[in-house]
Formats: sequence, structure tokens, C-alpha cells
Amino acid sequence: MATETSNLMEKLVSLCKRRGFIFQSSEIYGGLGSCWDYGPLGVELKNNIQRLWWQAMVREHDNIVGLDASILMHPRVWEASGHVESFADLMVDCKNCKQRFRADELSSQVCPACGGPLTEARRFNLMFKTHMGPVEDEENIIYLRPETAQGIYVNYLNVMQAYRLKLPFGIAQVGKAFRNEITTSNFIFRTREFEQMEMQFFVQPGSEDEWMEKWKAERWDFYLQLGLNKDSLRFRQHGPDELVFYAKEAWDIEYQFPFGWKEIEGIHNRTDFDLSRHAKYSGKDLSYFDEATRQRFIPYIIETSAGLTRTLLTVLVDAYDEEPERVVLHLHPRLAPIKAGVFPLVRRNGMPQRAKQIYEMLKPHFTVFYDESGSIGRRYRRMDEIGTPFGITVDSQTAQDDTVTLRDRDTMQQVRVKIDALKEELEKRIND
Ligand code: ATP
Repeated sequence: MATETSNLMEKLVSLCKRRGFIFQSSEIYGGLGSCWDYGPLGVELKNNIQRLWWQAMVREHDNIVGLDASILMHPRVWEASGHVESFADLMVDCKNCKQRFRADELSSQVCPACGGPLTEARRFNLMFKTHMGPVEDEENIIYLRPETAQGIYVNYLNVMQAYRLKLPFGIAQVGKAFRNEITTSNFIFRTREFEQMEMQFFVQPGSEDEWMEKWKAERWDFYLQLGLNKDSLRFRQHGPDELVFYAKEAWDIEYQFPFGWKEIEGIHNRTDFDLSRHAKYSGKDLSYFDEATRQRFIPYIIETSAGLTRTLLTVLVDAYDEEPERVVLHLHPRLAPIKAGVFPLVRRNGMPQRAKQIYEMLKPHFTVFYDESGSIGRRYRRMDEIGTPFGITVDSQTAQDDTVTLRDRDTMQQVRVKIDALKEELEKRIND
């Protein structure tokens, strides 16, 4: 049954807190605006998304390698990248209630909160500033990175030389980014601290259109692999008014959230802008010498930039469903934080002992959860609500023929499986 979209977000926030996916940061102190903590299930889910991305981007490509660059970087990086000068939103303040809004998100000339008058629009830089070392003066200003991409550009030479890479090749990175966003809402959709999964693909100028098509197709497939509903996904091309001046072409993959179609990933043709700027600002030669053509040039870059935490919200929204008897997260088994619940049907006749043995047997291979409290129906529902795809139950027949029931979360159907065959059966079903 489809869930009413109007209150879906509220229900999801409540489920995430109640079941340990996501908590508000510093909640016992009243919370910190737009910062969130990932609980036991949230961190498993986030790790699973990240691992699948790494698998799809790095492991499955011979010419893409990984990187983990520092969050704090030389301040010149952000001058070269253009962030110091122009990474800003136009914002307005309400003269009455003092709330601040993004000018491009306002539909009228008055404050949407109190109806009060607004100030003129001003530019507001989104980078968080801090100081490096003990002296807090202008010279020691340093920024928390607002994107992971620059860590890749400034390491392009190091990585290429160390790994003897030839064009085309890519560098992939997952990590935290920080933006002092003015408008934050919709749970973890737009937060001030978040994680990105970015891959920068360096290509010969002239071949970028072909690579753009290839990456658009691969990235689309990735979201299908996560099990997202195809009808809730679409591509949207940036129009001329939206396209940043250095980009030649830009596409967003968007998802239809309860609050509208929104970007989950950007795929951009960034031309030779980034490397040219870093070459200019650092004074280092960042050109590439192509031995086949004996030509020297600055490579073009196709970027695929996805939000890890935003993808996590997407898979939760997509998976949430309410049925008359239960709330269920239809998470793809590969994403599910816990793969199987293990239960004794009742707490007697040796069933708990047998179920615990099975739990111990599976534990090295899967995230499994043992539960013997409450009726079996309630235990199944608790697992459905957190998206656990399989339930394994020891019953009276187990002692006779070494079989258990294996319950499928989505169909709720049960089949009998030999205990010896459980591991293989789970592997097969998870990877199907
Ligand atoms: P938006 O228009 O939503 O602010 P953007 O175009 O600035 O996003 P990019 O700079 O292209 O976003 O960032 C790439 C990806 O990083 C986005 O598609 C999104 O998944 C993620 N992302 C960006 N900003 C945030 C944020 N504040 N919170 C969570 N994820 C974010």
C-alpha cells in the first residue's frame, strides 16, 4: 500500500530515531541545527552504500583508483577553485523575526515565517572558516572543505605518477564535506556536515562527450542496483542560466522525494578549468604528455558527484511502506543493515540453544540479530520495520530434520531450509 506522502517524512524521522538509524546531533543539549548522528543501523546502512559505490567505481574499473585526502587544505586551493570568491548563495534576512532565507527559494517579497519585511539580498559564503595554529588572525584562516573534489585535483599528479596511470583514468574518494547552508530542512537532505562520493575522470580533450554519455549511463544503473524505483528517478540537464561558467555540460540525477524532484547526483563536464586553475595558482605544470600523439595538454574532467548521506535518505524514502499489519522497509538485501533475524519459535525445548548456534554460525559472514523476546509475529515485525530481508526460525521440526523456516520480508512466505545450506541460501538471495 502506498504511504501518504504528506507525512512520510515525519514517520521516517521518527522511525529512524526509534530504531537507531539517525539521531539529532547533541540532542540532550537541544540539538545542533542540521547536524545528524548515525546510530547502529544508520552506520551499517551508510557503510553498505559506500561499499557498493566503491565496488562499482573503483573495484570494477581497472583505470579508477581511490584516494582519501585531508579535509583541511591549503587556503590557496579555495582561491584557485573559485570558492573564496563565488561559493555563495544570495540571502535575505527578515527585519522582523531575523530569520535568514535563500533569495532563490522565496516566492514573495515578505518573510515566509512571519510576513515581515526583508533586507536586500546579500552574498553569503558557504564555507566554514577556522584558524590553523594558535593565532586567530587573517593569515591563519583555513576552511573546512565544501566538497571532496579539490583533494583529487591537487593530488592528480601524485596519483598519476605513483600509479603510472595513462588517460583516461579516474580518481575516486568518499569523505566529509561542510557547507554553511542557509536553508536546511527535510531531515538529512541538506545538512551542514555531510558525506560525498565523488569520482573525477580525466580524459583527452575531444573525447569528453563520449565519456559524459558513458558515465551518465553507469551512474543511472547504480541507482537501479540500489533497488530504487525507476519511476522516481530522472535526468535533468542544467539550462544555460544554471550552468556554471566553466562547465560545458551538466546533468543531475534527480529523485522524486515527498518534497519534490531533487538532485541526488551531479554529472558534470568541468572542462580543463580545475587543473588549469591549480596550475596557475600553484605554479606547477599539471599538463599531460600523450606519448602516442606527442602532444601536451591539460586533461578535461568528467565528474560524478553523489551525496552519500543524501543517497541514504533516498533509499529510506524509497523503501518505506505501510501495510495494514506492519511498517516495512523494502531495502534491497545488499543494503539492509541486518541481513537476517534468528529466532527460536518458543523459549523451550532446546530451541533457544539451537537458534543461538545458528546465529554464531552465520555471524562471521553476515550481520545477524538474535531475538527471543515477544511473540514470533512481533519479532518478525520488528525486523520488517528496519528492513531485515530474512527471518530464520527454529521450531519443533528442527530437532527432527535439521531444518529451519526461512521467511522472506517482502512476500512473508516461508520455506524450509537445511541448516547446513543456510549460508549459501542467504548469499544467493542477498546477491540476486
Ligand atoms: P544543491 O543544489 O542541492 O545545494 P549542489 O548542486 O550544490 O546541491 P553539488 O555541489 O553538485 O550540489 O554536490 C554534489 C552532491 O553532494 C549533491 O548531488 C548532493 O547529493 C550532495 N550534497 C551537496 N550539498 C549537500 C548538503 N548540504 N547536504 C547533503 N548532501 C549534499
